[in-house]
Amino acid sequence: MNLLLIGGGGREHALAWKLKQSPLLDTLYCAPGNAGIAEVAECISLDVADHDAVATSCRGKEIGLVVVGPEAPLVAGLADHLTAQGIPVFGPSKAASQLEGSKGYTKDLCAEYGIPTAAYGRFREASPAKSHVAAQALPVVIKADGLAAGKGVVIANSHFEAYTAIDACFSGAFGDAGAEVVVEEHLSGEEASFFALVDGETALPLATAQDHKRAHDGDTGPNTGGMGAYSPAPIMDETLCKRVMEEIITPTVAAMKARGTPFKGVLYAGLMIKDGAPKLIEYNVRFGDPETQTLMMRLKSDLLPALLATAQGALGGVTLDWHDEAALCVVMAAKGYPGAYKKDTEITGLDAAGADPDVEIFHAGTKREDDRVLANGGRVLGVTARGPDIAAAQARAYAAVDKIDWPGGFCRRDIGWRAVTR
Ligand code: AMP
Repeated sequence: MNLLLIGGGGREHALAWKLKQSPLLDTLYCAPGNAGIAEVAECISLDVADHDAVATSCRGKEIGLVVVGPEAPLVAGLADHLTAQGIPVFGPSKAASQLEGSKGYTKDLCAEYGIPTAAYGRFREASPAKSHVAAQALPVVIKADGLAAGKGVVIANSHFEAYTAIDACFSGAFGDAGAEVVVEEHLSGEEASFFALVDGETALPLATAQDHKRAHDGDTGPNTGGMGAYSPAPIMDETLCKRVMEEIITPTVAAMKARGTPFKGVLYAGLMIKDGAPKLIEYNVRFGDPETQTLMMRLKSDLLPALLATAQGALGGVTLDWHDEAALCVVMAAKGYPGAYKKDTEITGLDAAGADPDVEIFHAGTKREDDRVLANGGRVLGVTARGPDIAAAQARAYAAVDKIDWPGGFCRRDIGWRAVTR
């Protein structure tokens, strides 16, 4: 079967690397891809916002499954358009993507179905939002309702900071995404990510992971798209995974079906764990980046039939095998990220760094010019290693990082610290 993978980040490189190993695969296409993905897939240029163009390309290339990496095309309805034309898609409909596309939608769903989450209020105007905030304990969390590329959340330590965040949302700092504001109770505890494939009815749990969102060591500095991750998340033992399925994932899947908007794709729950009890922080409707890099290194089974079964509503009876080993991913980013950074700086040493069979270097923002690899984004590489435990995977990942010569880049040196010192 031919596959089309949409996206061009580290998550998509990891998915492409894994899908490429499938005996069921003929040609893997990726739009737009990057320099790393080009080694395992045929990269094509395609305007993903032009749904007709995507469908035409799929028919021309006899695509048997489209795998959508990022959330934006899903929230824009790409899966609906392709499905209506008989093209199988891994990824939810526009209506089901509201689980990520509108934080207020998800909070209301949790309230209706008794899914544990932080207390909240939804507001369309600044003044009632501020009155509500004035009565809340600090810190208080202010969120733009819609997609804001990870920048729409402020954990306010003073009421003034909260008012400023509310004003920023309503004055258009996040465009349409800020037309509504969600005010949330601040949850304390340990964060973890939980992933499940969902075919509309059946949910198949994948592995767990934890990521590091802050730019600098010690989990300090500004928030980023993710500076590293590891899997499994030691906090997520079997009992807790079972609770997450029973209290969060299963009721959500049932609710989406009952609403007539069944969820098909990967449901990624951001969780806060306190005293052994999970609460939902947020849903994403796609794989996490960089968590996926670690999940793909640990997945033993063929990914392709699992994604196809998800798209076809046929997950019942599908099982997945995982390596017992842990995996850890260190993100290398351009100096300055998540602020302004330089592009086109040269990276060398990638072959030596990737020579260890337990190391994969997933590209996130790279391009190839002649035989040189150049940085082409903020997050640029995800150096990922497997090992008997997280400490071993960490040592292997950093040994590989140290072979990469990239004066224009930086990485955190403490990815996995919480698991290693646990
Ligand atoms: P979100 O985009 O909703 O995942 O929020 C981004 C990050 O903000 C999360 O990964 C948490 O670290 C933090 N966060 C969001 N909501 C809350 C909350 N209610 N309590 C504590 N931290 C939160």
